[in-house]
Amino acid sequence: MAKKRGTIPENVLERVLLDSRRRCCICYQSGNDQVREGKVTHIDPQTTPAASDPVDNLVFLCEQHHHELETGRISTDRLREAREQLYRALREGPFIGAGEEEAASYQYERHVCALLTAAFERTFNGQVAIHEEGSSPGPTSTSPDVPFSADVTIAGIHIWLVADAKYAERNIGLNDLRAFAGVVHYLKANKGIFVTNTGFSESAVQFANAEGIALAIIKREDRELQPGFVSDAVARVQRAEPARRM
Ligand SMILES: [Zn+2]
Repeated sequence: MAKKRGTIPENVLERVLLDSRRRCCICYQSGNDQVREGKVTHIDPQTTPAASDPVDNLVFLCEQHHHELETGRISTDRLREAREQLYRALREGPFIGAGEEEAASYQYERHVCALLTAAFERTFNGQVAIHEEGSSPGPTSTSPDVPFSADVTIAGIHIWLVADAKYAERNIGLNDLRAFAGVVHYLKANKGIFVTNTGFSESAVQFANAEGIALAIIKREDRELQPGFVSDAVARVQRAEPARRM
């Protein structure tokens, strides 16, 4: 994407592109929530950059609305309001658009893995091997995979924990937990941890308790796990058993 003006630093530009997720806020007002070709531009070209917040006077616009802004057909007030609406919608999501859900769930998975990795390394300093996405053992590419697993050694005993993270708009239901339990059994892991940003249905909680699967809610904005999260999960390790029917 061509930079509009050389005066916008790269990191500020990045932030506007991230904040807007390349949605044009004027298009969004008329119901178009798709990613657009466009550029980051100053809302009010007369305003000197606010010392407090460099992104305050910046907005991402599609080519057409950028042109309308430059020719004075969009007022700065309207533009600010439209930008606020878009940002609010993006923050509060769910945001439906092509590829958006996938991107959100991938980002969430990476976020959870990073938090788990940090927490496990802190708790089991030097006694844990972490495997992230695609590195769990499996003879074929079709074998079930988990985004995160940790091989913990305590007093010479190996405990293998596997975790899955699912970004969702509603509570996680029984079917998701059943599928995950199947993966845990298949991989012969000692402990499964299922993480989501929302919550779990009652039947999912019952099933998880019966299966010894740990459930955790981690928000996208969480910057670390609850103290004791990892030791709790490990303390309640159950040796792999056959799945019990509900
Ligand atoms: Zn537009």
